[in-house]
Amino acid sequence: MGAGPLDDTRFVGYRRKLIEDIRARGIDDLETLQYFDRVPRHLFLPEGVRPRAYEDAPIPIGFGQTASQPSLQAYYLSLLQPQRTEKVLEIGTGSGFLTALLALCSDRVYSVERVRELSVRARVALDAMAVQNVALMVGDGTIGWKKYQPFNVIVVSAGGPSIPSALVDQLADGGRMLIPVGGRDSQELVHVRKTGFLVTEDVVKDDVTFVPLLGQFAWKAEGG
Ligand code: SAH
Repeated sequence: MGAGPLDDTRFVGYRRKLIEDIRARGIDDLETLQYFDRVPRHLFLPEGVRPRAYEDAPIPIGFGQTASQPSLQAYYLSLLQPQRTEKVLEIGTGSGFLTALLALCSDRVYSVERVRELSVRARVALDAMAVQNVALMVGDGTIGWKKYQPFNVIVVSAGGPSIPSALVDQLADGGRMLIPVGGRDSQELVHVRKTGFLVTEDVVKDDVTFVPLLGQFAWKAEGG
């Protein structure tokens, strides 16, 4: 793509600043911070909001959706610690930014998004970064992705009223998941861990705000 956005040096300084902002929020896991240095977030955002790509803020990406706040995504990575041998399921590809981060730290990422246009855009950005270990699907992530189960790590980037049981079923032994659970406007972040037949759920953060998880085992899409 010639002198594409990857070559855009304007953003390098902003990216360093973002990493400082993430550290200031208490995330000091070096590996996690290095992943943020390697993924150009502006590539994953629509033209109009690119100047804001390195703010530690949720950014609108169209279709009523937002790219999540980077420090919250850093928290996901530092808590879940996906390993290079592990398989990850992501629900809510959105911009594809977290997908790219997950692709760097794991063996393979399977990511489901309900809005086709977002999935297509995410693919374009992932291709621009030459990311090859990501499979994208358009569909309802509340039923998981049975074909490729079990997953060592599941990340859910939208909030529902409860934890869809298919996601717990599709967790591997030793698997862990982060999912926002609660009301439409505010949720708690729940850390689910599976060891053998034992499943534990711990609230690790109060009062987080994600876009609604819409689907068969979450909020209904029509009628608000
Ligand atoms: N990590 C992404 C977050 C995007 S917002 C980013 O930083 O860009 C959450 C996304 O979840 C939205 O794109 C929304 O369309 C999607 N979503 C909501 N419910 C879904 C479902 N049941 N299955 C798959 N994707 C869903």
